[in-house]
Amino acid sequence: MNVSTAGSAPVSLELGEDYPDIRDAVRKICEGYPGAYWRKLEDDNAYPTEFVRALTESGFLGALIPEEYGGAGLPLRAAAVILETIHAAGCSAGACHAQMYIMGTLLRHGSEAQKAHYLPKIASGELRLQAFGVTEPTTGTDTTQLKTRAVKDADGYIVNGQKVWTSRALHSDLMLLLARTTSADQVKRKADGISVFLIDIRECLGKGLEIRPLEAMINHNTTEVFFSDLRIPASSLIGEEGRGFRYILDGMNAERVLIAAEAIGDARFFTRRAVEYANERVVFGRPIGMNQGIQFPIARAYAETEAADLMNRKAAALFAAGMDCGEAANTAKMLASEAVWHAADTCFQTFGGFAFAREYDVERKWRDCRLFQTAPISTNLILSYLAEHVLGLPRSY
Ligand SMILES: Cc1cc2nc3c(=O)[nH]c(=O)nc-3n(C[C@H](O)[C@H](O)[C@H](O)COP(=O)(O)OP(=O)(O)OC[C@H]3O[C@@H](n4cnc5c(N)ncnc54)[C@H](O)[C@@H]3O)c2cc1C
Repeated sequence: MNVSTAGSAPVSLELGEDYPDIRDAVRKICEGYPGAYWRKLEDDNAYPTEFVRALTESGFLGALIPEEYGGAGLPLRAAAVILETIHAAGCSAGACHAQMYIMGTLLRHGSEAQKAHYLPKIASGELRLQAFGVTEPTTGTDTTQLKTRAVKDADGYIVNGQKVWTSRALHSDLMLLLARTTSADQVKRKADGISVFLIDIRECLGKGLEIRPLEAMINHNTTEVFFSDLRIPASSLIGEEGRGFRYILDGMNAERVLIAAEAIGDARFFTRRAVEYANERVVFGRPIGMNQGIQFPIARAYAETEAADLMNRKAAALFAAGMDCGEAANTAKMLASEAVWHAADTCFQTFGGFAFAREYDVERKWRDCRLFQTAPISTNLILSYLAEHVLGLPRSY
């Protein structure tokens, strides 16, 4: 199918089960990690090391790294298919999806030397780049007001500050860090003066870097990170000093598409489970699925998921064509986060009391999928983006 936006060349969009070989291969890996595996991880508050290793060895986490740096050089849509399939199979890519896309900032803005040094090792999994330090406790969504400072001296930078919700930092070798290098009152625009650094966690721990686990509703291996006179070399800087916020924004559309794909995968998981249960469970002498009160919400969630999927494919196609995909990527992420929530709640209701029994995995996935409406960006901020940048309404903040 060809789609085009006003005045632009058509871009091609695949419908149906695209990348069937990738889907099959990912499904096969996921078969080795059933619900019991994920439930045990929650019991132990543990990281899915074996699952992440299997995905790394299969090369799927290096999908977006160009072949010249040892990756698979696949398009964004293929990476989205990988993540969707993982989630549709009942697994979770939350522990490792960042290995796929955080490197985008390095790829687009790093020096040749940085790329040659890091990317092949990230592609092979020898180096884990899983941690992305943006959010701070006092400034939240208002990223340009972040307080973490990196001050330059003759030997490099000295970092002070704090991050929160830095996921996977205890299971990562490297961290992409956003810090202010010029104070906010000395820059023309508030997005200026923020820089992005690639930090070697292994070298920094105990020398001004402290990472503490943050207990959360879901098993997301998230942390708080403290910087106290942490010294990092000048070579940690990615791109030009002061332009880091723009570099990060660059990568956000790709991230939205990938996260939307996970939500769509989860929605497919819930819908499949709800249909199976509604067909099997007999109450009042007939399957509960015969009741429209049971089948209509399932059908509605299915329709919402298909719409989100179509929008996400459009975003990936625009991205692949090098066209502006901000509107489509943000819309897809919002629609997918809502579709999965409706699918989850519908599945929960369909299972009756058994939804609460851990063995069915419905309650675990239900808790997990609530995150899509909050992170990596919350729905309100997407609506603000659409209102202001797409519809031309006044800026609201
Ligand atoms: C499990 C988990 C993992 C995460 N992983 C990472 C990570 O790896 N790295 C990282 O940097 N961050 C991470 N985050 C942080 C996440 O991106 C933020 O929580 C999210 O962006 C919202 O920021 P906040 O929590 O500070 O909310 P706040 O900014 O305090 O906002 C609170 C509420 O107010 C709304 N709001 C705020 N301002 C406006 C406005 N102007 N208009 C309308 N509504 C508004 C928000 O939408 C939100 O609903 C993670 C969060 C969670 C929960």
